[in-house]
Amino acid sequence: MSLKLTDSVAAIKGIGPKTEKILNKAGICTVRDLLYYLPRTYENFTTTTKLSDLRPGKVVIRGQISDLHTSRTHRRNLTITEGIIRDNTDAVRVVWFNQPYRAKQFIEGKDYYFTGNYDLSRGRYQLTSPRAELAADVDKLAGGNKFQPVYPVRGSFKSEGFRKIFETLRSEFAFIPDLLPKIKPGTRADALFKAHFAESDADVKAARSYLAYEELFELILASQLNKQENQKLRAEQIPFVANDIKRAVSSLKFNLTNAQRLATFEILKDLEKSTPMNRLLQGDVGSGKTVVAALAALSVAKAGQQTALLAPTAILASQHAESLAELLTPLGINVALLTGATKRKSSLKKHIKDGDVDLVVGTHALLTDDTEFKNLALTIIDEQHRFGVNQRQKLLEKTVARTGLAPHLLMMTATPIPRSLQLAIFGDLDISTLNELPKGRQPVTTKVIKEINFTDDLYPKVRAYLAKGQQVYWICKKIEEGGPSEAVSVKKQAEKLQKIFPKEKIAFLHGRMKPEEKDQIMQRFAENKIHILVSTTVVEVGVNVPNANIMVIMDAENYGLAQLHQLRGRVGRGQSAAECYLVSSADQPSRRLKELEKSTDGFYLAEADLKLRGPGEIYGSLQHGAMNLQFASLSDTHLIAAASKAAKAFAKTPDQLKDYPELMTCIKRYQQLTTLN
Ligand code: ADP
Ligand code: MG
Repeated sequence: MSLKLTDSVAAIKGIGPKTEKILNKAGICTVRDLLYYLPRTYENFTTTTKLSDLRPGKVVIRGQISDLHTSRTHRRNLTITEGIIRDNTDAVRVVWFNQPYRAKQFIEGKDYYFTGNYDLSRGRYQLTSPRAELAADVDKLAGGNKFQPVYPVRGSFKSEGFRKIFETLRSEFAFIPDLLPKIKPGTRADALFKAHFAESDADVKAARSYLAYEELFELILASQLNKQENQKLRAEQIPFVANDIKRAVSSLKFNLTNAQRLATFEILKDLEKSTPMNRLLQGDVGSGKTVVAALAALSVAKAGQQTALLAPTAILASQHAESLAELLTPLGINVALLTGATKRKSSLKKHIKDGDVDLVVGTHALLTDDTEFKNLALTIIDEQHRFGVNQRQKLLEKTVARTGLAPHLLMMTATPIPRSLQLAIFGDLDISTLNELPKGRQPVTTKVIKEINFTDDLYPKVRAYLAKGQQVYWICKKIEEGGPSEAVSVKKQAEKLQKIFPKEKIAFLHGRMKPEEKDQIMQRFAENKIHILVSTTVVEVGVNVPNANIMVIMDAENYGLAQLHQLRGRVGRGQSAAECYLVSSADQPSRRLKELEKSTDGFYLAEADLKLRGPGEIYGSLQHGAMNLQFASLSDTHLIAAASKAAKAFAKTPDQLKDYPELMTCIKRYQQLTTLN
């Protein structure tokens, strides 16, 4: 075979039309796509543990299985397949959830390798949902290499299928050219070979490190080039109207924190410039980002220009519109709300186009093609990670095409970027930080709790809050029962709570409801007409109901640290004490949950989060949706520093990018991601 990276996968021997179709459907179209489709993990069959020596954790065992049977639980609608694995030293219980085919998969009397987690569950040690392979198959594996890649399954295409394809490519890797200028020892061909044909953990590590470096180089280079591009754009210059700002600030019911003052100053200074602002305002939940945004919008309105504020949900948009109008309308600013549910949309859109509206708050509805602005000078994106790249891009194109000017951009997030990453990776962003909370806030007391302790410990607490007239958030993972996890659904939980608290008004909320329905429930919760709100994470961002002071998060182990911190930020928004209960069924709560018990400081938690993530894990695929790193672990500060140095040097002569067409394509992807401009 003589292959090029850009060839279709069909050029590979052994890939017929049927396989090609499956691969394409999984997004694997070119040889390059395929080569970068790396094993999810590796099974190391070289060392197995005798059953008599098993210790909790990840284990590889070899034995025979018997006593298989499947049952169904009613409460959580699961199928459970159980069996016993034996070797000549001992026996162990094995359990699979919602994999009923396991009951028929095995041949009695044959040896299998099982890899999975051996752990305590509901008081018994067991092997939970292990992978299984016929020992005879493993033993005759090519070259006697018992270190085997496990590829992520794509549709009907299993790991085994990928192994076979790579086996046919085994002798072909030499053709792979390097992606980057020669600045790092090793070659890409070697790294990719090691990833697919690793014989040890050391191979895997070396491969990952090379690919991670590539990835970081691309990301950092993209952000550097973005910065250069941004410098070339022109924006409306917004004069610093000190008197108007002072008047607005003195009309507030509170004094600004010093951090708010500084951030406002930094933003207003940026707005004066003829290059567009590209700034991130990061501050913990409750640190008061909205008022800073309001002051920026005020300046823009005073200059006769418009501001758009994009919020991730309709609920949040309407809350923002309300609180911004309260502050800005008395100062002569016209604030409008535009969401999917807005009545008389076309007349509002006409007002926006005519420039009658100074500040438009909205959701994605703001991005539709028929929403035109007269002179949009500032875009504010709240909880920016929730917005897709294309949407941001659209907003930019909209303005630049009409006026030749780019809007200033302010992104707000409650998920701070760890300091160690700010300079290295987000080199194109200026950052303002609200590092203090308004006075008088009490930290939310956080406790990990087990479901069996609800009756004794939790329900009395909840009852006490309800008796004071305060409200409760109850967070569940799922909308409906079923699916692969054991997590409880909002519906089931709401029914259960209604029995326990029969007098209280209880409602549930989730993302699949119609926006109007969601708004209505949120509105009634805000008016204290609903006392317990059972919800999925749709309440995660921004929602403000200061009378809700206790939150229970079911199946807390299912969420990331940042997300739990965000959720917790929904309580403790007033002046009274607040509590958050993290429900875990694990014997030992995870480090994540322990960190949350210990601290309410978002900046501390962001750093802790980074440290807790293992290699290959993605920092904030949720938090910074754009930043989907496949290989790099952002906790690897050495690698980041090295890649940063090389990428910044490369960016000094951006023209040389022409000599690296593949690199150019790769970084285009990131360039759109890292910023709007
Ligand atoms: P976030 O940063 O999470 O978006 P918000 O802007 O929603 O926070 O502010 C949270 C609450 O704190 C709001 O009710 C707001 O009016 C109030 N707030 C903002 N700044 C201050 C301050 N300096 N002093 C007291 N309360 C403040
Ligand atoms: Mg907010």
